[in-house]
Amino acid sequence: MHRVLIIGAGGVGNVVAHKCAAEPSVFGEILLASRTKSKCDAIALSIQKKYNRTIQTAAVDADNVPELVALIQSFQPAIVINVALPYQDLTIMDACLETKVHYLDTANYEPREVAKFEYKWQWAYQERFKQAGIMAVLGCGFDPGVTNIFTARAAKHFFDEIHYLDIVDCNAGNHGKAFATNFNPEINIREITQNGRYYENGLWIETKPLEIHQPVNYPEIGPRESYLLYHEELESLVIHFPTLKRARFWMTFSENYLTHLRVLQNVGMTSIQPVKYKGIEIIPIEFLKALLPDPSSLAENYTGQTSIGCQIRGIKDGKPRTYFIYNNCDHAACYQEVGAQGVSYTTGVPAMLGALMVLTGKWSGAGVWNVEQFDPDPFLDLLGKYGLPWHEILDYKLDFD
Ligand code: NDP
Repeated sequence: MHRVLIIGAGGVGNVVAHKCAAEPSVFGEILLASRTKSKCDAIALSIQKKYNRTIQTAAVDADNVPELVALIQSFQPAIVINVALPYQDLTIMDACLETKVHYLDTANYEPREVAKFEYKWQWAYQERFKQAGIMAVLGCGFDPGVTNIFTARAAKHFFDEIHYLDIVDCNAGNHGKAFATNFNPEINIREITQNGRYYENGLWIETKPLEIHQPVNYPEIGPRESYLLYHEELESLVIHFPTLKRARFWMTFSENYLTHLRVLQNVGMTSIQPVKYKGIEIIPIEFLKALLPDPSSLAENYTGQTSIGCQIRGIKDGKPRTYFIYNNCDHAACYQEVGAQGVSYTTGVPAMLGALMVLTGKWSGAGVWNVEQFDPDPFLDLLGKYGLPWHEILDYKLDFD
């Protein structure tokens, strides 16, 4: 039995807290801390009703290292699960180093002033984590996270060399709102409106935002227009699987979503540059976030499925081979189980399971790790049990040449 500190009480924090609470033999005591304590208390109440289990709650400013250190020292967790925002990754890693506690997150660090995600800031902690004898597990949501682990499974069991990787991410759900994002709007819009990028023959190729698109056939959903985006797992995957000749990431967007986004962009509402309004400096995208629905509020009436997977081409025993591995997740079933929509659920379950891997010793070793560096088997053996069953097809007819 271990103590776990979860930081962040948004859509994903809600799922992580529920899932940890449902596994008391591993997560013996739980503290959920976030900027707004009332959000932690609401989640704690739901857990009390559902599992008859009491979890502790606290307010914390995760931008403030001394405050984090004091909280960690008073609760003494075995691991900190960071499901606040990417802006807080480094401060939480600093606090973990100071207190010698394992760290896990689901999204890589982003500086507030530039919409840019790269692992370099977090990889720079490698030696310090090694010396402290603790682990930092980076990007353990679905994508990044399960998609990295799916790729590791393909490489371990089905290929001698993987050559072409296309990660395909579809949300075919309907929340009934005119425009909303499925996770933190600020982080989501920053991700989508930046240039696309993919890896080919040792080079990174830049595209205009959403410039390249094509239909992809998703299981149980059918063909959906999918747009090439840069996504952070590509950076670590091409390093850890150096046989890759090409690695790309695709995501679906509806015409309605893209039209709203285009208009918001055209009028400057997605900008991260401060503007003066009535003598006060505001950042348009932060203001927009205040207007848009809270992603967790979408859960109640959400219908349809998400489908995320990896289409892979490579060689085995000298012969070409294709492979597809994926999970489909139903929004309404997630709401039924933990009061969440599918995007929060598919992120929160792997975060809980990654922490379980660390606490049960299935994943070990001091240092900073991306999840594809661990053995994928124990994680994938349990992923279905915890709510995300996955499927694989050999000799799959890929959507890509
Ligand atoms: P939300 O915006 O719903 O929740 C974020 C939470 O973090 C809120 O409770 C917020 O508090 C809290 N928070 C923000 N700043 C601070 C701070 N300085 N100190 C303490 N708490 C803070 O986001 P989501 O739950 O949708 O997403 C959480 C994380 O998951 C994000 O990093 C996101 O990028 C990542 N993600 C990863 C995915 C993956 O597959 N890998 C997919 C989807 C999301 P308050 O309520 O007071 O604002």
